[in-house]
Formats: sequence, structure tokens, C-alpha cells
Amino acid sequence: MRIDVLTIFPAYLDALDLSLVGKARRDGLLDLRVHDLRDWTTDRHRTVDDTPFGGGAGMVMRPDVWGKALDDVLAAGTAATPAVPPAPAPDGSDAAPPAPAAASPRRVLLVPTPSGERFTQAMAEDLAGADQLVLACGRYEGIDARVAEHYRGALEVHEISLGDYVLNGGEVAALVVVEAVARLLPGVIGNPASLVEESHGAAGLLEYPVYTKPPVWSGLAVPEVLTSGDHGKVARWRRDQALARTAERRPDMVARLDPEALDRADRAV
Ligand code: SAM
Repeated sequence: MRIDVLTIFPAYLDALDLSLVGKARRDGLLDLRVHDLRDWTTDRHRTVDDTPFGGGAGMVMRPDVWGKALDDVLAAGTAATPAVPPAPAPDGSDAAPPAPAAASPRRVLLVPTPSGERFTQAMAEDLAGADQLVLACGRYEGIDARVAEHYRGALEVHEISLGDYVLNGGEVAALVVVEAVARLLPGVIGNPASLVEESHGAAGLLEYPVYTKPPVWSGLAVPEVLTSGDHGKVARWRRDQALARTAERRPDMVARLDPEALDRADRAV
């Protein structure tokens, strides 16, 4: 997967050289590029913003600068992921067989904004199947609304929010999206089993509480069942804990569960 992040503060994204995302980049599992939006400006002051039409406080990011930058990174992504993969002739001859009806590469423009759709694990899972993600990090009062409108005509565009609060810029949202998506790419997490029982996964529950050594710390003992060696009992306990925790902390998630699927999963434990 290729991910392009456009920002006026590229250094904000330096953390993406660290930990699992950094390793995924070094291992060639993720082609992540961070671009300085100001590289697409043409004036001496490298201006990316201007006053809002209609008046009011603050500045708005200019659509012409964003348009040039986005056109360039999308074109670079298109060149990197051709729509029809070259297919060798089955008999080894030079005559190419009819081109397979390959799906065109999926390119997605993500525009972080507090007025967007809430970013979720389900969205991260969906985006992990894309060929290119482009993240447009806004600053000031945000990006001129015509930018999302313009690209919606040509590709998939999602305006996404991290939550109901206002940040100074979209860079933190870009970090969140890259981390949430990258860890789902094949080979990024050493043991893919770690992804199975996680919170917000297929079961629609929060994860059960986890413990490690020492068995007693600060007067608190690890629940006895976890040291019993009885795998059936451990599985039952974890399932009950996940259900209880979800009911207590996130009743909204419980309301979304399918009772039949819930019963089936419970019988299987
Ligand atoms: N004037 C905008 C509003 O009230 O909706 C807020 C702009 S905010 C100060 C500047 C930038 O921060 C936004 O363009 C967006 O990129 C980012 N941002 C702020 N809050 C966010 C959130 N909750 N989720 C995602 N991005 C956010």
C-alpha cells in the first residue's frame, strides 16, 4: 500500500519512522511518503492560506495550492499502481493474451475535519484494502470546501473526524489513520493472532482485561483462572469479561450486537 500525507508540518509525521510502522516502511510493506504542501506554492512567502469569503475569524487553506499538490501525488500513485497488471503470455510467446478485467486501483482521499464522519476500526479495515491513501492535513479554519467536492467526482473521498473535539491540525488524525491501517496490512504485526480478539473487532466487543508477571503486584493477584492451565475455563472467563466490560463501558456497542451471533459465539466457548 502507498500512503501520501500532505501537511505544512512534515516533521509532525517523523514518528512514523518508529516502531511497527517504521519497520513496515523499512521492510517495504508500506510505501509512506510525507510531503510539504508549501512545495506547491509559487510565491515568495510560500502562502497556503487566505482570508475567508464572507468574513469571519481565521484563515482558510487555498484550493489552488491543494489542487496542484493532490493532482501530483495522485498521479504518482497511479503510475506506481497500474490499472491492468502486465500479464505474460501463457505459452511464453510475445503475443500478450487479452488483458484481464483487473479492478482499477483503489485510491482514497481522506480529509480530516471535526465535521467529518467518525473514524472507526471498521473504516480502518476497509481502508487497509486500498492501493493508495492520500491524507490532506488541514490547518487554520480548514481547507476550502471545494477541494473535497472536486475530488469526489474522480475518486473516493472521506471527510473523517477523530472525535467531537477540535485539534489545531490534521496531522494527529493522519498519525492515527496510518497507525490503525498499517497494523492491519499483511506482515506488519508479527503474530496476526493478536488482531483476532482485539477491541472493536469482529466480535463487536471490548477486549477482556490482560495480565502478566508478577502474579501478585501491589497486593493485587492475577485472577486465579488465568493460572489454572484450563484453556476452556480461561476462554469462558475472557468471554464473560469482554461482555461485562462492554456492557458497563459501552452500552452503545452492546445495542449494536446481533443477539443470534452473540448466542452462537457463547455456545462455541
Ligand atoms: N474551523 C474548523 C471547524 O470548526 O470545524 C476547525 C479547523 S481545525 C482548527 C484545523 C484542522 O484540524 C482541520 O482542518 C482538520 O484537519 C484538523 N482537525 C481538527 N479537529 C479534528 C478532528 N476532531 N478530527 C479530525 N481532524 C481534525
